Amino acid sequence: MKNCPYAKKCSGCQLQNLSYKEQLSMKQVKLIKLLGKFCHVDEIIGMDEPYYYRNKIQSAFTFKNGRLQSGLYQSATYKIVPVESCFLEAKGTDEILKTVRQLCPSFKIKAYDLNTGSGFLRHVLIRKGFLSGEIMVVFVTAKGDFKSKRSFINELLRRHPEITTVVWNVNPTSTPLMLGEYSEVLYGNGYITDTLCGLNFRISPRSFYQVNPIQTEKLYTLAKEFASLTGKETVIDAYSGTGTIGMTLAEGAKEVIGVEINSDAVKDAKENAKLNGIKNIKFYNEDAGNFMCEMASKGISADVVVTDPPRAGCSMQFLRSLIALSPKRIVYISCNPETLARDLATLTKNGYKVKKIQGVDMFPHTSHVESVVCLTRRLDNELRERVN
Ligand code: SAH
Repeated sequence: MKNCPYAKKCSGCQLQNLSYKEQLSMKQVKLIKLLGKFCHVDEIIGMDEPYYYRNKIQSAFTFKNGRLQSGLYQSATYKIVPVESCFLEAKGTDEILKTVRQLCPSFKIKAYDLNTGSGFLRHVLIRKGFLSGEIMVVFVTAKGDFKSKRSFINELLRRHPEITTVVWNVNPTSTPLMLGEYSEVLYGNGYITDTLCGLNFRISPRSFYQVNPIQTEKLYTLAKEFASLTGKETVIDAYSGTGTIGMTLAEGAKEVIGVEINSDAVKDAKENAKLNGIKNIKFYNEDAGNFMCEMASKGISADVVVTDPPRAGCSMQFLRSLIALSPKRIVYISCNPETLARDLATLTKNGYKVKKIQGVDMFPHTSHVESVVCLTRRLDNELRERVN
């Protein structure tokens, strides 16, 4: 294990004190405890090199002890722990943050103070395409004029020619680490393009994109395997983000329908489909629950539904409509085994059988556990048994 100097103060890596092997067994035990009642849980898939995997870095800025500092929020507090280098973050991004800290004072850019509401720079978001090497830097500020932006960005780019795009975003709310509605591209095209499973994806600042691309490929490959497509299926990709899962499934399906609530992500998804020449996919900017409800009420059917909700899991409305739509297979990708267990209980009570459960370690050194589950409609099996 690497020895992190911030381990005590920064609460980002909750499992620091365990070896990676121990972390994986702990996650496996958690999955078995929560999901073992539904089906055998296959051995969690870990990383060969569980460091520097994060492609997204969010660093909060503050002025403390007479100098500008940046780092992470201590969990459940608004206290910033200054961090100069992190073992989870993509290599090279710490150098960019260091330069920002050095440059700000000479350009009279002050850190925002949550208590007094004074200052300007709230946080810096960096996204890196692991395969493309593209780097996006987003300056998230309070309301106000970014006076020295031109000269500031020019100097940043001079020192870091590896940066491919720079965006200014304004977050006027009291919630830190959020991106606001207003964005202005200061350099480049305003997004990065990255490659996953052989496809290219454009990702803009506010769109969701999996943070660990190495493990994401493994996760999507499993999702594809669990979907068992033959080329004849209508597939729904619910909570589709920038369309990454749907697009990896499209070549094996008749058609794919993606639904996603974030309009920026849907815009990216549509562009991404064009970028990859995928014609049998459509995206809808809607709440997934409402959309499924409309589909069910119109009597539209789907053969396979892939669902990848946020931590809160699927809404009851979504699950009810999913059951009404009655797809042959459901592939459920989850970043929260607690809500997954809750939703699997509903689905198994309503005609579905859990066939496979597989954990994928997307977030080494943290307590987060991702898993992918394959469910099939029980009616099929019963009918088959009767026919046989
Ligand atoms: N499948 C994608 C994104 C998964 S993250 C991927 O693998 O990259 C979950 C996504 O659900 C986010 O993009 C979020 O914007 C979206 N989301 C959250 N609530 C939603 C809702 N009620 N309806 C539809 N999408 C929602």
